[in-house]
Amino acid sequence: MRVSRGLTSRARASVPEREGWGCGVTYLDFNASTPIDPRVLEAMMSSLSALFGNPSSVQHLTGQAAGSAIEGAREHVAALVGSATSDVIFTSGASEAITLAILGAVLADPSRPNLVVSAVEHKATFSAAELGVRLSGGELKVAPVDRSGIVDVDELKKLVDSSVALVAVMHANNETGAINPVQEVSEICKQSGSLLLVDATQSVGKLAVDMTDLGADILTFSSHKMYGPKGAGALVADRYVQRVLVPFFPGGGQERGLRGGTQDTAAIVGFGEAARISRAELQACADHAAGLVDRLLMQVREAVEDLEIVGPRTGRIPNTINLRFPGADAEAVMASMPDIEVSTGSACQAAVPMVSHVLLAMGLTWTEASECLRISVGRPTTEADIDHAAESIVRSVERVRGMTAE
Ligand code: PLP
Repeated sequence: MRVSRGLTSRARASVPEREGWGCGVTYLDFNASTPIDPRVLEAMMSSLSALFGNPSSVQHLTGQAAGSAIEGAREHVAALVGSATSDVIFTSGASEAITLAILGAVLADPSRPNLVVSAVEHKATFSAAELGVRLSGGELKVAPVDRSGIVDVDELKKLVDSSVALVAVMHANNETGAINPVQEVSEICKQSGSLLLVDATQSVGKLAVDMTDLGADILTFSSHKMYGPKGAGALVADRYVQRVLVPFFPGGGQERGLRGGTQDTAAIVGFGEAARISRAELQACADHAAGLVDRLLMQVREAVEDLEIVGPRTGRIPNTINLRFPGADAEAVMASMPDIEVSTGSACQAAVPMVSHVLLAMGLTWTEASECLRISVGRPTTEADIDHAAESIVRSVERVRGMTAE
């Protein structure tokens, strides 16, 4: 639901600037995707060449080597979210994991054809939920959020009853960074016997995430948001929940029968290494990100008086800030600073500009929503990057406002 521009030819020409980390532009869109950590790449390269066996071919050593690499990765992923190793089901990413959770739950019990999702869920959740109720003949109910983008638990409670198979409330929002009160939602779900799906794609690796503490029945997340490769993600659920879910892709019974097909050993090994690093460096990365976001905010706020923080002031993931510049269209601001890569809350579908459903759900008008920039920092971001970005943003906002005033 966003537009993030690709590399300009100037940027491509200067790749790579920082060894192992990417390109000569100032990339501040880490919520969209992260570069592969060089340590992850190293682990993947050796898997690609050496671990070619089919991980299900347990009759010989070549297959066993691939299988045990996958089990090692599973342990790292499980440790990152405080689950049992056997709870981790590898998928191709968060979208697939979310779809498996939603379709798997809504098709499991004809007496529970309905779904409840928060108004700020990712498009992957909305699409799967729409398909889910089309197949079940049930109803999709949307729980509202407050002005800071946090789900309204009292309103959500009114929607959840024994006809609801699953409630989806994301842990942290990709556009505002807002963290939802998942534990409270979990209590509501327990009373109605509905499963709670927590899309933790933007919180895993940025916050300490513990499945049991959250009270989530199903947790989903993605490797490429945490310095791992694209093409790997996970659904985490205990054995009981795994047995409830209807597999829509059973294949040869891999991943406990929930996600068939020969696993991508190298991608999973990379995901495992990314999880290991994220767990080991969690606090340092969070502190680094929070310091950089504060630095950016201080500099931009000093120069732009009527700046608005969109989303909660506290209770955000540390690397994310969404800023509104009244009177300055965000697409125009981005276009006037081509070497700063951030993101708007908008999307372009079939050349028709759209604004973010998240920002609209928070009560922003269409115009207000089109004045918002999402900035998300990452491990390789430096103070110099932030100083350069702050200066460019301020200059671009002034330029766009000047043009609008003419
Ligand atoms: N959920 C959230 C909150 C996301 O930010 C994203 C990716 O942008 C997804 C789900 C989908 O993840 P994937 O790209 O792994 O399918």
